[in-house]
Amino acid sequence: MEVSAFDIQRPFDPALEPLPCADEHGWWFLFRQRDLLLRRLDERRVEPLHGAGDPRPRHADRPEPHFLGRLDGTPCFAAELAGAAPGGELIERDLFRLHGRMDTDLFLLAGRAFQILEWDRNHRFCGRCGTATYRAEVQRVRVCPACGYSQFPRLTPAMMALVSRGRELLLASAPRFPEGFYSVLAGFTEPGETLEACVRREVREEVGLEVANIRYFASQSWPFPHSLMVAFIADYAGGEIQVDGEEILHADWFTPENLPQVPGEMSIAGHLIRWFVNQHRQ
Ligand SMILES: [Zn+2]
Repeated sequence: MEVSAFDIQRPFDPALEPLPCADEHGWWFLFRQRDLLLRRLDERRVEPLHGAGDPRPRHADRPEPHFLGRLDGTPCFAAELAGAAPGGELIERDLFRLHGRMDTDLFLLAGRAFQILEWDRNHRFCGRCGTATYRAEVQRVRVCPACGYSQFPRLTPAMMALVSRGRELLLASAPRFPEGFYSVLAGFTEPGETLEACVRREVREEVGLEVANIRYFASQSWPFPHSLMVAFIADYAGGEIQVDGEEILHADWFTPENLPQVPGEMSIAGHLIRWFVNQHRQ
């Protein structure tokens, strides 16, 4: 089972401190909302900014960068691009569109950087009492000075399930998908629910089927905006396909020989489907 595609391959040491020296060269993940600031390497390939010190132009309300840790010993920083971008031949691109155009480790780190900035931006005020929060130094947490409430970076676990029936797999089309595009079932976990219970509930709600023998496949950080996708394989155990018409428009059984258009390399859904197809090729 291929699980390594979603992990950083080179040595990465996540850390908040000690902060690197000011003249040390580092990777700078500078974001304006979802857009990452990049340097072109050639027609297709891009990379984040690399250099000594914060490359953003100085201005009074420039938010402090976040030190993420070290990749191969090189310090990595995440920061918001609030005002003008640094000069030069730079481009800003949506993180979602950068898979395959960047070094994979840097792409995965960009996802990490984006989630930390998103959390920092969305928790400037206490969710309990409304007081302005501050960023703690020894842990990645924003703390309220009035009531002490701590807000850690938020992750939303979601499950994904490939339901199989012999050589067939269940694929479904959702209203948000392009025409003719299908994927495995997925959904967010609810409070108090295990991932396995979530698999059973989502499959029942979305296509009206029962499943058994739920096995873990792999997980993927999905920074759009802060999910952790946990993928499972499950066996069909009963029922007739009946779609809800809202979350799922159409679902059906497919063999490896008659697959519709499915997700690509970037997502764990694509890996899950390809893994099944390779297992059941004739
Ligand atoms: Zn508070």
